[in-house]
Amino acid sequence: MSDFSCNGCRRAVGDYCSGDERTRLAAPAMTISAEHTRIAALGAAERRVLLELVRRGPQSRVRLAERVGMSRASLTRISRVLLDAGLVLEGEPESPGARGRPAEVLRPRPGAAVFLGVKYTAEHVYLVLTDLCGSLIAETSTPLPSRDFDEALEIGIAAGDGLLGDLDNPSAVGIAVAGDVVVEGGESILRRSGFLGWDGVPLARRVAEHTSAPVTVFNDVNALAGAQHWFGGPRHSPLVVLGVGAGIGSGIVLDDELHVGAHGLAGRVGHSRIGAVLGAQGRPCANGHLDCVHSFATVPAIEEGAGVAPGEYAEAVRRAVLGEPGARAAFERAAFAVGIAVADAVNAVDPDAVAVTGEGVHCLDLAPEVFRQGLADGLEGRTADSVRIERPLFHFDLYARAAAVMAMRELLAEH
Ligand SMILES: [Zn+2]
Repeated sequence: MSDFSCNGCRRAVGDYCSGDERTRLAAPAMTISAEHTRIAALGAAERRVLLELVRRGPQSRVRLAERVGMSRASLTRISRVLLDAGLVLEGEPESPGARGRPAEVLRPRPGAAVFLGVKYTAEHVYLVLTDLCGSLIAETSTPLPSRDFDEALEIGIAAGDGLLGDLDNPSAVGIAVAGDVVVEGGESILRRSGFLGWDGVPLARRVAEHTSAPVTVFNDVNALAGAQHWFGGPRHSPLVVLGVGAGIGSGIVLDDELHVGAHGLAGRVGHSRIGAVLGAQGRPCANGHLDCVHSFATVPAIEEGAGVAPGEYAEAVRRAVLGEPGARAAFERAAFAVGIAVADAVNAVDPDAVAVTGEGVHCLDLAPEVFRQGLADGLEGRTADSVRIERPLFHFDLYARAAAVMAMRELLAEH
C-alpha cells in the first residue's frame, strides 16, 4: 500500500490538507444563469419531474412519464415549463446512458440553479456552490479564529456572500455540521455539536435571517450519505456511510431515501465497548465510556495513542508509515474499532454497501487485516467477505458539497 495521500486533493500526507484559506473556481467557463430563482415558483408536479431527472439522470419522456406516474400529455406540458425556465435540456447528454430519439430525452441543464453548501469544522468553514447536476461551480474556505457561535456564523455568512458574488441568492442553502439536528418547538435546532461546543443553537434560523433562500441544517455524515447515494457512482440501497474523523457517525439510506430516524438520531454506531478485545486500555471517550470505539478510532484518539500533539494527525500517519511501533499500534486499534463500528451498522441495516470515508480513515490502509478482524468479530451471521466496503474520495469540501446536494434534495422534494 503506497498511497497515503489525502483522498480528496492527493496532496502528500505531510501536507495533509486540514484546509488552508483558498478560493478557486472549478469551472470558470460555466455560465450561471438567473433561472435558478425560478425553482421556487415551480409547482409540485414540475418539481417531481425535475427531481426524477436530477436523481436518475437523463431519461426519455416515455420512461419519465412512467416513473412519475403521469400521462404523456401532462408530461409534455410540464416539460415545456421546465424547458422555458432553463432548468432542463432536450437531447442526448454528453455522457452515454440515455436511449431514445434525441428530442425524446430530457436532462437537467448543467449550470442551472445555484446551491450553497457549507461545512463547519472546529477550525474552518468550507463553502461550495453547485448546480442542479451537483457539479461544483466554486469553492472557498476560511479559518475560524474561535468556536464562538456568533463569530463563526458571521464569518460563514461573509464567506458565502463573497462566493455568491453578483448572485443575490442561491436556490437553497445546506449546512453540514457534526452533531444532532433535531426539531424542537417546530424549529430545527443543532444539539451536541461537541467539537464546536455548540449545543441548542438555532443555526438554520440564524442563517435564514440573511437570505431569502430556504436553509436546512444536516448532520454532516447524514448529508454525505444522501449525496453519496445520489451522485456517488453506483447506487446502493440500503447504503451506510461511515464518517471517521474528529468523531464517528453513520448515515443511512433506506429505500432510496435518507433515513434519519424518528428523532433525527439514527446511525449512532460509535460507542460499542471493545476494551475486553483490545486488552483493557482504560481510555475514555468524550461521553465518559471506557474503551469504546470512539476511544480508539477518532483523530484525537489516534493522535493521543500515537503520542503526537493534538492537531498532528499527519505526523501520526507519517510515523505509522515509517513503522514506528507506537503509531502503528494506535492505527491498528483504530482499524479494529472502525471494523466494529461497520459491523454494528451492517448488523442493524444489512446494507448493500458500506462507504467508509472521512479525514481519519487512514487506519484502513495502514492495518487492513486488523480492520477485517474487527469487522469479522462484530458481525453476526455473516462473514467479513460478504460486506461490500467502498472508499469514496474525501475532502472537507465534499461535506459542503453534500450539504448543497441535500439542500437541493429538500427543495425539490417539497410538495
Ligand atoms: Zn463512547
